Amino acid sequence: MEKKSIAIDGPAGAGKSTLAKMAARHFGLIYVDTGAIYRCVGLFALKNGADTRDQQAVSALLDQVQIELKYDEQGVQRMILNGEDVSEAIRMPEVSIAASNVSAMPPVRAKLLSMQRDMAKRYNVIMDGRDIGTVVLPDAGLKIFLTADAEKRAKRRYDELQAKHVETTYEDVLQDMRMRDKNDSSRAAAPLKQAEDAVLVDTSEIGLEESFERIRELISGRLGL
Ligand code: C5P
Repeated sequence: MEKKSIAIDGPAGAGKSTLAKMAARHFGLIYVDTGAIYRCVGLFALKNGADTRDQQAVSALLDQVQIELKYDEQGVQRMILNGEDVSEAIRMPEVSIAASNVSAMPPVRAKLLSMQRDMAKRYNVIMDGRDIGTVVLPDAGLKIFLTADAEKRAKRRYDELQAKHVETTYEDVLQDMRMRDKNDSSRAAAPLKQAEDAVLVDTSEIGLEESFERIRELISGRLGL
């Protein structure tokens, strides 16, 4: 039977992963966090001392990068990079920037595309990222573009990092976020943009519960789940 798929795109910190995880649990879907896959490439480049803005240097490493997506008993996605579980390591702020840099490179995107499509062929998925509705799953049953003001997104990300005891300041997080927004939206390869047929959900002024309610209604209404 044809698998169901939901695409959620938007800038960093809009709440994509939190809401996608809630929806996955509610509707029994597999949540695919595609940012984590780009983060693995960014981490690998950093570990190997490559300049993450140097396409030639990063491309030369790509053959050595082997990424696996695994799910634990709770259905939580784990990232395995060359046999090592890097699920925590990829959340470090320096890896965010590295991921944003390497994700602008067409050879990196090409390598990761089939992996993402393959997940959607095998499972009913809710997949989040930057180009899911525009490039990865153009025929997704529902596309959501989730956004919020940069300051609100930075505050949420800062609180998350604080909770994980990662040392940083709100100003640094806001600056990183602005840099990534600019990088992700202005790149030539699969830039962050709303698909024509995506539904816009702005979470600047609404809390988590209300945001989830909107998404839940969209999914039930559109996919009959
Ligand atoms: O979603 P997350 O913030 O973890 O993604 C890390 C980086 O990976 C983003 O800043 C973006 O540059 C890149 N990315 C992408 N395409 C996706 C998902 C993430 O370019 N589908």
